[in-house]
Amino acid sequence: MPRGPIDSHCHLQSLTDDECSEALDRARERGVSGFLVPAIRLSDADKLLALCHQHEDVWCALGVHPHDAATWEDGDEARLRELLADPKAVAVGECGLDFYYDHAPRDVQERVMRIQWQLAVDLDLPVVVHNRDSNDAMLAVVADRDFAALRADFHSFAGGLGMAETLIERGFSLGMSGMITFNRADNVREVIPITPRDRLLVETDTPYLAPVPYRGKPNRPAYVVEITARLADELGTTPEAVAELTNQNFFQLFSKASAAD
Ligand SMILES: [Zn+2]
Repeated sequence: MPRGPIDSHCHLQSLTDDECSEALDRARERGVSGFLVPAIRLSDADKLLALCHQHEDVWCALGVHPHDAATWEDGDEARLRELLADPKAVAVGECGLDFYYDHAPRDVQERVMRIQWQLAVDLDLPVVVHNRDSNDAMLAVVADRDFAALRADFHSFAGGLGMAETLIERGFSLGMSGMITFNRADNVREVIPITPRDRLLVETDTPYLAPVPYRGKPNRPAYVVEITARLADELGTTPEAVAELTNQNFFQLFSKASAAD
């Protein structure tokens, strides 16, 4: 069987242990060949690293989500740097800005994102970026020369054409989620034809955003198969070709994942 797609963004830490084993089994049965689990907060790290070391096909990103940015403490940068030395920690994140929910003050979100981006540049690791209703602030940080060498996955991308163009120009990758299967999501799908094929990733964003026909149910990594199929339709190619392409892109960006294999 050819290797199926890698789910480049699934929050398995939000499932119970039983749900997690079940989710991994179901996904593997459908050919899903890898899983990247991004942290939400630093206290996720032990659980995520244990999971990664239990499963050869699971990797993690470690960092602090914008929703939790206000929990950031002085020693966290050193702690995160230490945690990222683990061979299974292949990226910094998820980090970013969320001005839709505003769970943390905006200046704090930006400060905590900048610290994590700087760490990623220092350690030559990619970042997994969350960006919601914060394009202008995000673009200002993206333009900062300090981050000229940054490599990034803008996950579950729904930021619009203009934003996509700028991120693509910067060499960043865009994560395609279940949103590309939603009926009224032309505004999400419109970035697909303008995105160079070597910048496309697929992801479920489990447990959120389940694709059609599972919409409204808890999302699972197995459903990256439906997302891959829809992306293949949009690109006029086969799901197998999209899996091969996006897996290649995955290992190109998350290069530590290939070394850790
Ligand atoms: Zn996420």
